[in-house]
Amino acid sequence: MTIRISSAFPTGNGLVHQVGPHEFVIDRDLRDSTGDRWYWHLRLHSDRDTMVRIRLARPLLIGQFGPVVSTAESRNWLWESPGPDTDFEVPLQGQNVVGLSATMPYGIRELEAFRVELGAAAIWRALTRSESGGNVPLLIVPQPKSKFLVLLTARHHACEAMASYVLEGAVSEFIRLRQAGNHIASQCELVALPIMDLDGVAHGDQGKARKPWDHNRDYGDSSAYRSVSALRDRLTSDGRTVFALDLHTPGLRGAIEEVPYVISSGDPGDEEIAKTFLTKLNSLPGWQNAKSAKPLLFDHAWNSASSRSGQCCSAWLRSRRNTRIALTIEYPNAVDQGVPVTIHRARTFGALLLRTLTAQM
Ligand SMILES: [Zn+2]
Repeated sequence: MTIRISSAFPTGNGLVHQVGPHEFVIDRDLRDSTGDRWYWHLRLHSDRDTMVRIRLARPLLIGQFGPVVSTAESRNWLWESPGPDTDFEVPLQGQNVVGLSATMPYGIRELEAFRVELGAAAIWRALTRSESGGNVPLLIVPQPKSKFLVLLTARHHACEAMASYVLEGAVSEFIRLRQAGNHIASQCELVALPIMDLDGVAHGDQGKARKPWDHNRDYGDSSAYRSVSALRDRLTSDGRTVFALDLHTPGLRGAIEEVPYVISSGDPGDEEIAKTFLTKLNSLPGWQNAKSAKPLLFDHAWNSASSRSGQCCSAWLRSRRNTRIALTIEYPNAVDQGVPVTIHRARTFGALLLRTLTAQM
């Protein structure tokens, strides 16, 4: 019997060592990132039906409900109840490919499906070319006469795939509100940058904490990455009042990794804005199971609007005179307050974020 495991596909990542006929040790491939990163995504193929045993090279490479198992028909967490982060067994059907991953994968293929789903409701453009020559996607739900701009960004950190489903939910909710005649959604324009680190997402990079810095620490005096530079240029030549959310995800396991957060800086007034946002968010109906998101204070230079170097996206936005709100949001990768994260729940959270944002216009 031959079992093949590969990371050589878009969004693929992982280091694999075979230690027995049906047993493998897998690890995340750190590449140019530093620190305790967690992203991996592999495909397995066997010529016959078999059970494969996977041992994990380090802790925190899977969430409480195991890895995500993807087949042609479904994409689900392996376990229905919480289990350890040391090892797992997964059945392979002969001649069928099974995907295994730390979180729900989201690459160019998923974005393309979203583009088809939106149809004529959105306009798609290229923000710029990535370093590898790909078109960095830019989505617009237009209202050229608007005074207000809703700005959504995701995947400054390539591995943070669940943030893309949150973004999908927010964009879809904006379109739904506009089609329903909502006054605010009709009067303002939405601009979304669904994949800021296009090359990193395509290659399956961690993307976070790259050496010497990553896309979200590229908002200092000048920018090294083409997408960041192009976004800054675009906003600098756009005089409209900005309401912005930059979407992220934390790690896989642990109390702080398993709840949504709104990140506040230590700058005067920022915590009040974050708390006002949270109060509104937590008061909205339609958020079953997960009771609330929480505030998290990062009083660091990169998160401050007055810092000159290594600023993050939302801090740079807050440093601009015509930004009204710019918040970093974290949504869990695997577990939200005891409940497995799903694509539907991530989209629902995104829809609530969008309604919270527009409620403050
Ligand atoms: Zn992030």
